[in-house]
This record gives sequence, structure tokens and C-alpha cells, in this order.
Amino acid sequence: MKIVIVGSGFGAISFAEKFRTLAPQATICLITRERDGYYSRPLLSHGFSKPGIEQSIILKPFPTLAQNGIEIFSGATVTGIDRTHKTLTFIDDASSQETLSAYDKLILAQGSAAFVPPPFRDNQECFHLLNSLNDLKKLRALRTALSTRLDPVHWAIVGGGLIGCEVASDLALAGDKVTLYHAMDRLMERQLVIEDSAKLQSVLQADGIEVLLEQAVTGFQKQNDKIVINSAKPAGFDAVIVACGFKPHTELAAAAGLSINRGIKVTPFLQTSDPDIFALGDVAELPDGKLYAFILPIRSQAQWLAAYLADGSEQQPWTPPAFKPKAKVHNFVADNPLPF
Ligand SMILES: Cc1cc2nc3c(=O)[nH]c(=O)nc-3n(C[C@H](O)[C@H](O)[C@H](O)COP(=O)(O)OP(=O)(O)OC[C@H]3O[C@@H](n4cnc5c(N)ncnc54)[C@H](O)[C@@H]3O)c2cc1C
Repeated sequence: MKIVIVGSGFGAISFAEKFRTLAPQATICLITRERDGYYSRPLLSHGFSKPGIEQSIILKPFPTLAQNGIEIFSGATVTGIDRTHKTLTFIDDASSQETLSAYDKLILAQGSAAFVPPPFRDNQECFHLLNSLNDLKKLRALRTALSTRLDPVHWAIVGGGLIGCEVASDLALAGDKVTLYHAMDRLMERQLVIEDSAKLQSVLQADGIEVLLEQAVTGFQKQNDKIVINSAKPAGFDAVIVACGFKPHTELAAAAGLSINRGIKVTPFLQTSDPDIFALGDVAELPDGKLYAFILPIRSQAQWLAAYLADGSEQQPWTPPAFKPKAKVHNFVADNPLPF
């Protein structure tokens, strides 16, 4: 059997490694845009306070995975799926060379992009996103460049959800000045009870972060070397990071005619509308309408799917494990964390 996996994030690698142990004879081929290896995406939001993170964030270099019998095509983007002939096309991002690869079973684990609210889309040059190791490298280089003439650098973070709060906290720990804009009347309102939102706000403020609630940001503009945020309280910043949620990479699946909604629609067996194509991780939408975009349920999906496809040792549908998402904000622990 030949299994082809798209992506090299937590879902893809957890699945590939588990499948390798359960099906030693199978051919496993993994195609990914990444070049640096398999890295910890959660650590991105602690990427400013830790020196040498560009290296320490790499959990496994690609040659290590290849030694385990996983064929890797890195720096390559999958551009199309031909479901009739069970092939996919990918392009080497450096040489533009196109390759066709056949599959028996295809695993879609291409994760998600950062969500950019529609009013911001015309001003992409005014802000940054933090969704990949490449983004982090660019932001760290920007911070180093700004630090040569500014002390401290003043950042605006737009979005007071989990990632926005984590990034604000980490930049403050690294010694920068931070203003956090949030549209709602309390931080992380989806994951925290009211009392924990208030506690989180106090922790961030104690770290010197200016927290602005009920601030609907309507756009940005460049003014000299500052970025001005348009909101009820307009102000200028040295740099802006938008952290307004995520958007699953459904484009490939949609072009192949698979059923999609917010994510790629899957059955409780993680099967898409094509019986030979499965999806897991941030990109998969379960019949309950949920995207289980956290490490713990993704590990569970990957291990379940490997056992289901490799030797049939899993025959019952995947069931989500109980878990309570945690914010990696320095000095903050929720007193009453809510279940997902
Ligand atoms: C800053 C940040 C902090 C986070 N912190 C936490 C945390 O503390 N706890 C937690 O549980 N979760 C956290 N998350 C969420 C967690 O990281 C994700 O849910 C998880 O990484 C998703 O794994 P995945 O395998 O589905 O996708 P990803 O990790 O996004 O991997 C997808 C891979 O597919 C590749 N790819 C995409 N399209 C193509 C294509 N067409 N061709 C080839 N390759 C492609 C991408 O390059 C990428 O390597 C965080 C996320 C972010 C961004």
C-alpha cells in the first residue's frame, strides 16, 4: 500500500510515525512546503523571549524522518489531486519542477493559515502574522532591525484570543512595549470564564502590557515609519501583529471536488467525501461541526487513523478525547479552565 501525506505538521508526522510502526512494509511518502524540518508550532508564540529558537523549535530534521522509512519531498507544494487516477501533483518551490505521485490512500494534513479579517486585506503591508516558522524568522529579523534605533520597540497585537495573548506576553517578557487590541469586552472569551479573563488581563497589565478592550480595529495606514491603527483610540506603532484566529487550508480539497465547509468535511472515520482520502488536524471538520485544532486531539486523530488504516486494529469511529485548552501566557494559569 502507498500512503501519501500532505503536510509535515503535528498531524502529518504523528500519523506517519505511527503508521510506519504498524505497517513496516507500506510505502509512506510525505510532501510538504516546509524546508527546515518538523517543528513545534505551539512554540512559535514563545519565539521572542527564547534565544536560538530557530534551531530549538525543530523537533525532527527531515533526514531523521527519512531514516525511519518515510520518503520526504520538502520545499514542495501540492497543487492538485486527480481523484479519478488517484494521483497528485506537486511543484518543487525552488526549481518549479512538477512531479506526479500516485497514492492508494491520501492523507490531507495541510493545517491552517492565520485568518485575516476582510477589512484588513487591502493593507497587508501594514501588519504581520505568526503562523509558521518562516513568519517567526521574519518577525525576529524585524525586531532585531527595529531594536537598533528604538528602545523599546512598540508593538500592537490585534486579537485578544489565545495566540494574541501568548504573543503579547512573550514580547513583553523579551523587553518590548506592547498594546493589545481586542474587539470583545474580555480576553479569551471563548476559552475562559469571566473571572479567568479578568485574571489574565491583570497578569498582562502587571507585565506592562496596555490592554484595550471593545476596540474594533477597522484598518491600518502607514504614517512615516509608524503603522497607525484605526479604531476608537487610533495610535501609531513600530509594528503590528494580527492574531484573529485561523482558516483551514481547504483550497486543494475544494478544487478536487471534496465536500468542504469551514474545514474539509470528514466522517467520524476521518474520511472525506472520497473513500480513499482522509483528513486530520486543523483542516478536518468533524460531523459535529468542530475543528479540533489543538495538539492533544490531533495526536489522538493521527494515532487512531494509523491504526484504522494499517491493520484495522481500530474499528470504532474516532472519538475526541476530553481536554481543556491552556494559554501559554507567562505567569498565568486559569483557575477554572473550560473543557473544549
Ligand atoms: C502560534 C501558535 C501557537 C499555538 N499554541 C498551541 C498550544 O499551545 N497548544 C495546542 O494544543 N495548540 C496550539 N496551536 C495550534 C496547533 O499548533 C495546531 O492545531 C497544530 O499545529 C495543527 O497541526 P496540523 O498538522 O493540522 O497542521 P500544521 O501544523 O499547520 O501543518 C500543516 C503543514 O502542511 C503544510 N502545507 C500546507 N499546504 C500545503 C500544500 N498545498 N502542499 C504541501 N504542504 C502544505 C504546511 O507547510 C505545514 O507544514 C498553536 C498554533 C499557533 C499558530
